[in-house]
Amino acid sequence: MAISKIKPLVGVSQCLLGDAVRYDGKSKANQIILEQLTAVFNLVAVCPEVEAGLPIPRPPVQLTGSIQNPKLTGRDDPTIDVTDIMQRYCQTKPAELKHLAGFIFKSRSPSCGLNSTPVFIDGKCVTETSRGIFAKKLCASYPCLVVIEDIELENKTTLDNFIQSIIT
Ligand code: SF4
Repeated sequence: MAISKIKPLVGVSQCLLGDAVRYDGKSKANQIILEQLTAVFNLVAVCPEVEAGLPIPRPPVQLTGSIQNPKLTGRDDPTIDVTDIMQRYCQTKPAELKHLAGFIFKSRSPSCGLNSTPVFIDGKCVTETSRGIFAKKLCASYPCLVVIEDIELENKTTLDNFIQSIIT
């Protein structure tokens, strides 16, 4: 049986690759990605907040006001509102990623979280299982995309299933 030597293209939240793109000017390097997944995938780095035009460092933001249709506002300064900037980015970016077979998202992020992002209404956390604005848009654009978030990679069975789903 012929085995393809071409590695599948898989998107990844850029901070997980060790790039210092987070709001605090740091990275969130993930050793499973760097040591295991780079061997089987060609990884495509995406940082929605930086690509949307936000600086490094930048004020931290969070999802607020609604679970279904949240805003992206400042965690420490609620007058900061970057919802429109992120929504504009999300209108065009998914079309550039149509060649991806999968995506590895950074958990809990208001932009990248897959099933782990908190939403706050009137200062209170009303859920911790929501989806970041970019992750939501990308998954809606490509319902068959194989997706996972970093915290799930620690489960060997889940990790193996993710790899197999893409390779097969
Ligand atoms: S979680 Fe997403 S938006 Fe935040 S730094 Fe990482 S890649 Fe960028």
